Amino acid sequence: MKRLEGKTALITGAARGIGLEIAAVFAAEGALVAIADLSAGEAAAAANDIAARTGARTLGLGLDVSKEADCERAVQETAAAFGKVDILVNNAGITKDNLVLRMKEADFDSVMDVNLKGSFLMAKAAAKLMLKARAGRIINISSVVGQSGQAGQANYAASKAGLIGLTKSLAREFAPRQVLVNAVAPGFIRTRMTEGLKDEARAKISELIPLGRMGEPGEVAKAALFLAGDDSAYVTGQVLAVNGGLYM
Ligand code: NAP
Repeated sequence: MKRLEGKTALITGAARGIGLEIAAVFAAEGALVAIADLSAGEAAAAANDIAARTGARTLGLGLDVSKEADCERAVQETAAAFGKVDILVNNAGITKDNLVLRMKEADFDSVMDVNLKGSFLMAKAAAKLMLKARAGRIINISSVVGQSGQAGQANYAASKAGLIGLTKSLAREFAPRQVLVNAVAPGFIRTRMTEGLKDEARAKISELIPLGRMGEPGEVAKAALFLAGDDSAYVTGQVLAVNGGLYM
């Protein structure tokens, strides 16, 4: 039996990287998957690709998670296509790195708007259905730097630390209706977000990681799969670190 048979999932920022891998793993495990991303065209292409690879029903949606109307529309369109929304993965995220004294206010605001406010807006929109259904899973993709801090990423680290506070608060608020809310905190994962790192920086980072290498998107997707499925029925308000031991 597939682990997400009969479930429906909405994943943001899923046209590439970690989100795309989560969508592919969920589809392979039997879920109907809505792939939402800034570009409707790229979301549709990713949805078609996953449908062709797994045979699952998929849907591509364009949205900007920092806009409340987009979030509500994405949840409604997913529910209209699949009948319900069982699983929400808040994966869309951006970086605008700089040292604090050089960081522009707009760069602080936009990172908070997408990474933190976007997750709040999506959770709010999906929770309307999940609380009524008395079932649901919300998985927020945080980051190791939200736990450890990181020079040059004050905006990003603050947004990802905020996401952990949001996760725990939603978990407490929604637990009476059996809606489980958890976070995954990846370490350094090989995606477009980290491909800009110079070889020297990459080697230095790998030296700091007890497992001695960067992670793969599929390794984060497996943690999300655990939190989305029945195996985690008694797990809520937790942060599951997938970081090769970088932060313990
Ligand atoms: P990625 O390859 O850059 O993918 C992020 C996706 O989110 C892109 O498709 C992007 O669209 C989309 N997106 C950006 N802003 C959006 C918005 N306002 N509304 C909707 N979608 C939006 O990043 P990734 O590495 O897969 O990261 C996925 C998540 O994991 C992020 O939350 C990130 O912070 C987190 N994370 C990543 C790492 C890592 O090492 N890679 C580590 C820890 C945590 P466009 O391409 O059109 O911009």
